[in-house]
Amino acid sequence: MENLTNINVIRDIMERHGFSFSKSLGQNFLVNPSVCPKIAEMGNAAEGWGVLEIGAGIGVLTHELAKRTDRVAVVEIDSRLIPILNETLAEHDNVTVINEDIMKADLAGIIKENFPGMKIAVCANLPYYITSPVIMRLLESRLPIDSITVMVQKEAGKRICAAMGTREAGAVTAAVRYYSEPKMLFDVSRGSFMPSPNVDSCVIRLDVRKVPAVQVEDEKLFFRTVRGAFSQRRKNLANSLSSSLGLPKEQVMNVITAAGLPENVRPEQLSLENFAAVSDALAKL
Ligand code: SAM
Repeated sequence: MENLTNINVIRDIMERHGFSFSKSLGQNFLVNPSVCPKIAEMGNAAEGWGVLEIGAGIGVLTHELAKRTDRVAVVEIDSRLIPILNETLAEHDNVTVINEDIMKADLAGIIKENFPGMKIAVCANLPYYITSPVIMRLLESRLPIDSITVMVQKEAGKRICAAMGTREAGAVTAAVRYYSEPKMLFDVSRGSFMPSPNVDSCVIRLDVRKVPAVQVEDEKLFFRTVRGAFSQRRKNLANSLSSSLGLPKEQVMNVITAAGLPENVRPEQLSLENFAAVSDALAKL
């Protein structure tokens, strides 16, 4: 197969198929030859595993995944890429290309059909405009996924992998940690892509937990509490929860005290256990 990270090969494919990059679909293709093998190896693409990929582009990562793993199913929204993928992935008989939007696709059905009896990994160079929604969809759907290894913008990766109780932590940090154990794997410079984006990137892996990190009375309320707490980062917890949940400040103060926290605590100081205690105290109101 031709080298899909070679710029001349990419230009030739694009020209023959009349393809041009779509900025709105986040099409920045990997051209650094060392990155895809690393994502595949660190992302559990191995014997006995099935891999769900999001966004194939011209198939550069798909090819590395297909070489190492039993089966690959890749969801790609852009129908212009399908004839290209039929050409670039022709040598692999273990790849299924699905021309759908990852936010709408029947992921449980895709997994059931493609990966019976296999451990399941997600690997992707994500389109950055939907980083958090895709990650949250994968985690919230409670699919039988073991790990999610994705390229994201550096800033998003730092936030997702931040420790709770630190300045970098936000609502997405808490949500991701509830469902998984996140790990920063490696940085990728903007020059590794074509076209080159104006931000650097990193690859992170989320090892999905069998049971959530904390037990809560009401999961929906837990996530509303987390989102509400971080919605006004500069306010203390009492003020931000009171305005986001529409509750009198005095009532919120009682909840915070009942959770064993100081009245003037700030959202970024809370651990996941603290958030669970606050949402459980709110559930009792
Ligand atoms: N994997 C390729 C690579 O590393 O070179 C392409 C990565 S590129 C950053 C993101 C890919 O996701 C593009 O091929 C784009 O068309 C696709 N994409 C964008 N939005 C999508 C969506 N909602 N569902 C599925 N694929 C999407």
